Amino acid sequence: MTQKSLIGAENTRWDLSELYSKLEDPQLMADIDEFEQLASKFFTKFRGRLDQDLSAAITAYNELNELGNKPVVFLSLCRALDTADQEVKKKLNDVIERLSLITGQYLTFFDLEIAALPAETIDRQVKNDEVVHRHLPLITKIRLFKDHLLSEEVEQALAKREPFGPASWSGFFDEVEADLRVYRPNGDITLTEAWHEMTESKNAAERAAILAAIHEAIDGFFLKYSTETLMTIVRAKALEDQERGYAHPMTERNKFNLLDDEVVEALHEATARVAAPIMQRHYRLKAAHLGLAQLAWSDRNAKLPFSDDTIVPFSEARRIVIAAYESFSPTLAAMVREQFDTGRIDAPHSIGKDSGAFNLSICLPGDQPVAFTFLNYLGSNRDVATLAHELGHGVHGLLAGRAQGGLMMHAPMAYAETASIFGEMVTFRYLMQDLVQKKNHQAALALLVSKCDDFANSVVRQIGFSQFERQLHSAGRRLSTDEINSIWLETTQALYGAAGAVFTYKHLDRLWSCINHFHRPFYVYAYAVGEIFTQSLFARYEEFGDRFEPLYLDLLRAGMTKNALELLQPFGLDPRDPAFWEAGIKVSFGNWVDEEIRLSKEMGVELKA
Ligand SMILES: [Zn+2]
Repeated sequence: MTQKSLIGAENTRWDLSELYSKLEDPQLMADIDEFEQLASKFFTKFRGRLDQDLSAAITAYNELNELGNKPVVFLSLCRALDTADQEVKKKLNDVIERLSLITGQYLTFFDLEIAALPAETIDRQVKNDEVVHRHLPLITKIRLFKDHLLSEEVEQALAKREPFGPASWSGFFDEVEADLRVYRPNGDITLTEAWHEMTESKNAAERAAILAAIHEAIDGFFLKYSTETLMTIVRAKALEDQERGYAHPMTERNKFNLLDDEVVEALHEATARVAAPIMQRHYRLKAAHLGLAQLAWSDRNAKLPFSDDTIVPFSEARRIVIAAYESFSPTLAAMVREQFDTGRIDAPHSIGKDSGAFNLSICLPGDQPVAFTFLNYLGSNRDVATLAHELGHGVHGLLAGRAQGGLMMHAPMAYAETASIFGEMVTFRYLMQDLVQKKNHQAALALLVSKCDDFANSVVRQIGFSQFERQLHSAGRRLSTDEINSIWLETTQALYGAAGAVFTYKHLDRLWSCINHFHRPFYVYAYAVGEIFTQSLFARYEEFGDRFEPLYLDLLRAGMTKNALELLQPFGLDPRDPAFWEAGIKVSFGNWVDEEIRLSKEMGVELKA
């Protein structure tokens, strides 16, 4: 058990009073009533008139968006603090249902009309009006989907029904998963605790036993429910894709990410060809350190025997992260400090809190950007990296929110990870330099190994997930649990090697059922884009020196207004070139694994051919 007093995160809590004073704050329902009135006015005033008055409509739409965000953000944050609170859950669901009805009824026309406007009409308004001119990227993005929109009646009905569609299956899935218990001799534990214990354990037999217990726990009802949820989502999407005229299951997601299908293809290809073999070397080296001939799947994220387990107090994590940001950009460091000082971070791990970590950045009414960071800080080195990661999202949100306003602040998912991974990288570099200076080679190697694990998990593993999804979505029919299990095994082995080469795959076949990202089809590959994209930028940082920071801050300020090509152009990088992905993998992962091998050799541990 961790000692709370050592961690010292318990006083770093959110102050949500700038949103609402409490759950029963009458202002919350008053805001929703106001939202309904304004939305209804918006409908009457602008429907059929966007060819004349796009400027006023965009301004009013932005105000609506910011007003509607506020109650949802407040209730979502309350829910993250206490997932068992039924009152919060009910209120959040009620609010989402009501907002879906209002937006479905009154706001659906906005995108449809913008998509249908003749190009000359848009050009004229862009030329004559500053607001329209500034929002051209938003207009362009909406028009990307022009050929895939359905009639207003159908789009309205789909929007109103949204809370009861596949999303509700997925929401309930999370609750079922939270109720799951894994049998352990000392008492049952949750799935989250089981994964945590498996990763933290330094005993291979114990790790294998935990994985066997997880395998057992997900059999039966959970596996059935997972199959049904996944198949409902896959089949509903196939039907909708057909109605909307998408030729390929990934096309819609790629458009949202502002990435061409070919670019996404090049990423998948480079990962399989370049990153997977580097990863296999990394795991073979890990096997050598663990004294194992092959790794069991439960050993994948295992720490090295000599890795440091001392708890990093939260105050020390704060110092490290601020110093790391400071070493790169005083502007960003100031923004990080601001997040600590204004009640925007909820740090401690406590019972009832949602698992994991996130950052939620939005604009409040008046174009006021705010960023809320959620953590379960337990004092591991991973937790320090997570703090740097989430605060990176925070500075990204604040910079883009100030520059672009609420409608264009959010970078597409594929680049939304840039600032966060960059923040992790500056922190990694900061810690690494410190260890090298102190000539602590063991600790440096342990840090490097965990960095390589992270890269493998965010690039190779996510692309494996994406390949798994491709097969599910292109099957063209419902699949049985057994069929899904085989696809899972096959797509994993395609990247991790045949059984017995590096890994044995006992108890792997059902693990797809625990991954809720599959409920947002093709969401996962964005992690790989984000990682390689950011590592390529980081390599440029080391080349460009002082010229880098202003270019990078502009990249963050762009929000959703630029695509990958435009974002990378100032850095002389081109994601259309397949060599871009290969170089990004080699300059980071490739170099780290070489360094791992060199440091290991010094310690007398060699990679066998
Ligand atoms: Zn992130």
